[in-house]
Amino acid sequence: MTYPRINIDLFKIKYNTESMVQQCHQANVQVAGVTKLFGGNPKIAQIFVDGGVDMLADSRIENLAKMKDLPLSKMLLRIPMMSQVSDIIAYSDIGLVSEPVTVQALSNEAQRCNKVYKVILMLDLGDLREGIFHEGEIRQAVDEISRMKSISLEGIGTNLTCYGGVKPTRENLSCLKTWKESIEKQTGQPLRVISGGNGSTLSLLPAPGIPPHINQLRLGSSLTMGIGLNDEPIKGLYQDAFTLEAEVVEIREKPSKPVGEIGLDAFGNQPMFEDKGFRRRAICAIGRQDIKPEHLSPLDHGSKILGASSDHLLLDITDTLQDLKVGDPLTFYMTYGGCLSAMTSPYVQKYYV
Ligand SMILES: *Cc1c(COP(=O)(O)O)cnc(C)c1O
Repeated sequence: MTYPRINIDLFKIKYNTESMVQQCHQANVQVAGVTKLFGGNPKIAQIFVDGGVDMLADSRIENLAKMKDLPLSKMLLRIPMMSQVSDIIAYSDIGLVSEPVTVQALSNEAQRCNKVYKVILMLDLGDLREGIFHEGEIRQAVDEISRMKSISLEGIGTNLTCYGGVKPTRENLSCLKTWKESIEKQTGQPLRVISGGNGSTLSLLPAPGIPPHINQLRLGSSLTMGIGLNDEPIKGLYQDAFTLEAEVVEIREKPSKPVGEIGLDAFGNQPMFEDKGFRRRAICAIGRQDIKPEHLSPLDHGSKILGASSDHLLLDITDTLQDLKVGDPLTFYMTYGGCLSAMTSPYVQKYYV
């Protein structure tokens, strides 16, 4: 067994998934289990399936392709690329869209493959990532998409708290209800899905906090890491299904302030140091190309992260009660962003427990 590695506790992920799926189903909300944190790894995706999610969703078509043998429908979360249209039709069943020109290309490819591709039209309620903002443009997109031959307009959706940090509320989500009714009138067809956002919308659960017309949420970090709005822990869920272990390669006593004239560090920043005298320091073999040090926190409260360069993580271990030796692993919790980058680093082993 080598380091660095992420230990992934499948039992905890299954527990979180079952628990969230149960709460959502009680509120008549279906769950799209979002697999991007673990790159669509089929082993973890299978745990989502076992935990009861209604479909699998990822932002990357490459990840959905890895899950092609799992028995649920697959949703593409990122606005589709023109250059990937044939893979999108091959490996996904439904996509979040905002550009009719791309939907037309999807329709053509779907028709060529004798398929009907489902789409959810994304509306921007103010967070300013994906989705159509202007009313007139929403109507026009609906008009164009509903006339496309091999496309089924399944519903509308939104995404919040991603770029602008705009929180989901009953007020902003109630726009989706108004739009649903108005679009159904426009097309004469029912909209089956109202996709009310990501894990941050869980802050409105349980019902009646969540507006009753919302019948789908796209959930990733809540199932995997037990966190919701503002990355805050969700009560009753495990936050430690993913932990990182890195190996100590040096332990030495050194001054806390560098010796010599100070210029810029490896990343062009002017470093600042507090003089605390001589301290016992450890180096772990992991670095910024795997995970940023600010996204890590040591399990052992006595160790403090000092910083990192591309391949070295530096810690002050003077106050630890552990008897650390070279070759020992140190364990860390990760933020969502940190976990995402370490999970996609080919240098970090993934170990399932
Ligand atoms: C990543 C993503 C999600 C899932 O977000 P979580 O906060 O992990 O639940 C939902 N919708 C879209 C469009 C996404 O890109």
